[in-house]
Amino acid sequence: MLINRRAFLHTAGLGAAAATLAGCGGTQTTSPLHQGTADPPIDFRALARKLPGLLITPEQPGYDLARRSFNPLFDNRTPAALAQCRRIEDVQACVSAAAAAGAPIAARSGGHSYAGYSTPNRALIVDLSGMSTVEVNADGTAVIGAGARLIDVYTALAGAGRCLPAGSCPSVGIAGLTLGGGIGVLSRKYGLTCDRLVSATMVTADGIARTVSASAQPDLFWALRGGGGGNFGIVTSFTFDTVVAPQLAVFQLDFPAGSVAEVLGGWQQWIVDMPDELWSKCNISGGSPSSCTVIGCYVGPASALNPLLAELIRRTGNQPTSRTVAEYDCLDAMRYFAGCADKSTAQCHDQASGRQRNREAFVATSRIVTEPVADPAKIVSVFDGRRVFVLIDGLRGAVGRVRSADTAFPHRGALATMQIYLGTSPAGRAAATASMSEMRDQLTGILGGGAYVNYIDAGMPNWAQAYYGDNLMRLRQVAQRYDPGRLFTFPQGLTTA
Ligand SMILES: Cc1cc2nc3c(=O)[nH]c(=O)nc-3n(C[C@H](O)[C@H](O)[C@H](O)COP(=O)(O)OP(=O)(O)OC[C@H]3O[C@@H](n4cnc5c(N)ncnc54)[C@H](O)[C@@H]3O)c2cc1C
Repeated sequence: MLINRRAFLHTAGLGAAAATLAGCGGTQTTSPLHQGTADPPIDFRALARKLPGLLITPEQPGYDLARRSFNPLFDNRTPAALAQCRRIEDVQACVSAAAAAGAPIAARSGGHSYAGYSTPNRALIVDLSGMSTVEVNADGTAVIGAGARLIDVYTALAGAGRCLPAGSCPSVGIAGLTLGGGIGVLSRKYGLTCDRLVSATMVTADGIARTVSASAQPDLFWALRGGGGGNFGIVTSFTFDTVVAPQLAVFQLDFPAGSVAEVLGGWQQWIVDMPDELWSKCNISGGSPSSCTVIGCYVGPASALNPLLAELIRRTGNQPTSRTVAEYDCLDAMRYFAGCADKSTAQCHDQASGRQRNREAFVATSRIVTEPVADPAKIVSVFDGRRVFVLIDGLRGAVGRVRSADTAFPHRGALATMQIYLGTSPAGRAAATASMSEMRDQLTGILGGGAYVNYIDAGMPNWAQAYYGDNLMRLRQVAQRYDPGRLFTFPQGLTTA
């Protein structure tokens, strides 16, 4: 049994269409430094001589594979070149070359940006996937290369008996995830991924390599913790304070079709009363009628989880049609949530290659659930009759104990994030986007206009306020200070007007 999103999509008959490669990537705007010009005037031959790794331009055979990111909808993106960086000096060389030429540049780590912002047309892509080592220190801190993917991070940390609260998809990059916050199954117990950040090494627009922390460039350190990938500079490595890997009890309760309003109503009150050890999400499959599943985990034994699940069932007023509880060590639990439970780490890593297999064509957006909703039926009515998958991830616990102004992640008091996700094909993209936008805008009337920057939505109304709330002005000041020439501008970047 798999309970990750991919499995859920397929069992619900909502799976993304086959990853056909006829692209229909979204519209792009270019850097204000570069608007109206033809090809980027970077001297790629000179740049290539400075890099020990490849600099791949469109004439080269590896270009079509190298430019692919996770979502096949962006397969028609045509970057000017991709620099496979191995050292911080390589990143400095790329940043300096782009800055000198006034050419667009973007970092790419895991390549999972929902809007394809790590693969813009005509830009120099700084590919960090070759900088992915994970080193665990005796004091429990871990230095993780920006190009590492989550399954590699979990596996390497587990080898040292450690863990990091992070996301579930094995191929998501630690970089994009951390820079936008980082929500996952251990968040209520140990905080967001960005809450465990001790320091980061990065290259800013002036080409300078900096190590930022609470005591060195604290404004930048503040901004990196939730201010969103692509802003402020290019991070090359992160140092995290990891935790001792816990034993976990994972669970899944499937509820009968037609019971979503009652289940959601009970679930949202239940999570408020749960200990930090308990994390859960409510997944809704839109349909006629819609159906839902509550999945999650408990930091501790199943014997302590079971009475909490009995309480959930009581509050929903519905008996689940199926109930699964299993105990796992931390790494196996992460594999389970990643959909890799029945695979070795090597096979799971294979799945994480992200370029050729197991890619998903989708459009998605989000809303923030600040408090339990008075009338859950209203929410359900938005999804009824639609082929949509909705993931509502519980927050609070350790996430809510950090003040909103203490890091750039603004949604500290939120009860949950809600992600609206539609699998599609390139041909169905316009219709899926229209349907998604309609649902998002209907939800605004019920939930308000907040959104999670890691589920970045190119069509999000009032996007800067939605992602950053009261932290927006300070974030813009930091971006202006470290990137006054707007080198790292992209359509929803903090230096974008
Ligand atoms: C299948 C799937 C599952 C997901 N699950 C979760 C989850 O469980 N929890 C969660 O919180 N989020 C989740 N996400 C969202 C994910 O956190 C974001 O999409 C994140 O931005 C991906 O990071 P990346 O490095 O893979 O992507 P990329 O596309 O490489 O980067 C994303 C953005 O960050 C910038 N960036 C990349 N690397 C760097 C760098 N080194 N320095 C500076 N900027 C950089 C890029 O330019 C781009 O703007 C999921 C996404 C997908 C597609």
